[in-house]
Amino acid sequence: MAPNPFRLRASAERIIIKSPHEVELMRRAGQITAAARALAGTLVKPGVTTQAIDREVAAFIRGQGAVPSFYHYNGFPASICISVNEEVIHGIPGKRRLKEGDIVSVDVGALIGGYHGDCCATFPCGEISPEARDLIDVTRQSFFEGIAKAREGNRLFDISAAVQAYVESHGYSIVREYVGHGVGTHLHEPPEVPNYVPPRKAGNPRLLRGMTIAVEPMVNAGGAGVSVLDNKWTVVTKDGKWAAHYENTILITDGEPEILTAPAI
Ligand code: MG
Repeated sequence: MAPNPFRLRASAERIIIKSPHEVELMRRAGQITAAARALAGTLVKPGVTTQAIDREVAAFIRGQGAVPSFYHYNGFPASICISVNEEVIHGIPGKRRLKEGDIVSVDVGALIGGYHGDCCATFPCGEISPEARDLIDVTRQSFFEGIAKAREGNRLFDISAAVQAYVESHGYSIVREYVGHGVGTHLHEPPEVPNYVPPRKAGNPRLLRGMTIAVEPMVNAGGAGVSVLDNKWTVVTKDGKWAAHYENTILITDGEPEILTAPAI
């Protein structure tokens, strides 16, 4: 899930560094979250309602002894976010039946032992167009381009710049109004993690081992503009072109970052 409104924090002071014990708890939360995402991917099929996916994934998370992080989060009326085609994020599961050729972003969070995991992927529904496949692939790869810069001593916007450069080099647009975020005992903690380099440099802390952040590119095939539907949740592209989303919660280490919502898919 991606927080809004977008307000950059002024410093790294409020970023919570996790202890090894906390990291262990976050690994557990992350693994359940990733398994829930993988399950959701197997459920995306023509004819299935988004509500049915929500229910099955929520039952899986609860069966693991965890709680879906988005359940009633700020009043969100379901357990996971399912965003189809021109829906970017925060889609509300309901009676909509998926159709062959749709692209389906499933964003999942799980809370267990006091810590959250948060991850997302966009799945194809049956056979999809080459254009839709490319959008999904570029969005996913932009995450990996970004976390290649997620090294202790680098700055946060080194991740942002890498995501942005990769996405824009493929002719796609980065959503500005919603961003990644720290994750821990709260689903959304400092810092905010934009997928582009903001015009001002405030809120660009150095990365330190023990930081846990969700990196989540939201990528539009057309323009960057988005709007929110009357349900006050679902974010859609202004131009109606399709969007994709990919996210993992990661740990900054003294070497390569560790994906806590593992395995990544
Ligand atoms: Mg998130």
